[in-house]
Amino acid sequence: MARIYCIANQKGGVGKTTTTVNLAAGLALVGQRVLLIDLDPQGNATMGSGINKRELPLTIYDVLLESATIPEAVQKSGSGGYDVLGANRELAGAEVELVALERRNERLRRALKVVDGDYDFVLIDCPPSLNLLTLNGLCSAHGVIVPMQCEYFALEGVSDLVNTIKQVHANLNRDLELIGLLRVMYDPRITLQAHVSEQLKAHFGDKVFNTVIPRNVRLAEAPSYGQPGVVFDPTSRGAVAFVEFAQEMVAREKGPALADIR
Ligand code: ADP
Ligand code: MG
Repeated sequence: MARIYCIANQKGGVGKTTTTVNLAAGLALVGQRVLLIDLDPQGNATMGSGINKRELPLTIYDVLLESATIPEAVQKSGSGGYDVLGANRELAGAEVELVALERRNERLRRALKVVDGDYDFVLIDCPPSLNLLTLNGLCSAHGVIVPMQCEYFALEGVSDLVNTIKQVHANLNRDLELIGLLRVMYDPRITLQAHVSEQLKAHFGDKVFNTVIPRNVRLAEAPSYGQPGVVFDPTSRGAVAFVEFAQEMVAREKGPALADIR
């Protein structure tokens, strides 16, 4: 059975897509079967996986409107070793169209049932808002991974998201939990970041992942080559951190014994 995670944060530019793409590639590197779902009309996770969003015959849009199944719509990522259910601008329209449909929160959940045995992990890259698309993600997932920068207002933003997770858990999806907070774009030389990082650990305890993703320009360069950073420059600090994070995720799901396979 696949473990299904949303990578979510209602703020834009915090590292959701970078986390989704590199965690997908990192998990594939350690032998996991991975499906990446791009739930953001910007299609950055699609492009960052080496797939041209403008040339996709079928996308998540078709899946949400039930005119295609996930197996019909998936593509192979160029070099990442995982599958991609891509997105493009068309998806922006789905939000409006979904409102009029029945079971509008559960469209993705139902579609995922078909591929439950085909993957170990399904990672959903959410848009930077708590809209109907994100809700479809949250209603289909076992948990949420929250990438965040250690900035002054970060804690406030996270508590809004944690409240949303609690509400979805209470009303729509009993499986949903906060898996953890991932510190990204981290620079320990900045005193404020180290301070916020400590605050996070004091507040959220073991919900803060051990792995920390450093600020690393190779991670930012990789998407323009259509590759995950983990593949583009495997020895860069950012890539090493994401493979470490993938191992941390496998260890928490399957026990430490399987986490070292490479
Ligand atoms: P989101 O999906 O939350 O909008 P992105 O993953 O697209 O955020 O990241 C925003 C920007 O920051 C992108 O230009 C990305 O390349 C860059 N970025 C993300 N993570 C890192 C990192 N660890 N080091 C350097 N740049 C990063
Ligand atoms: Mg994004």
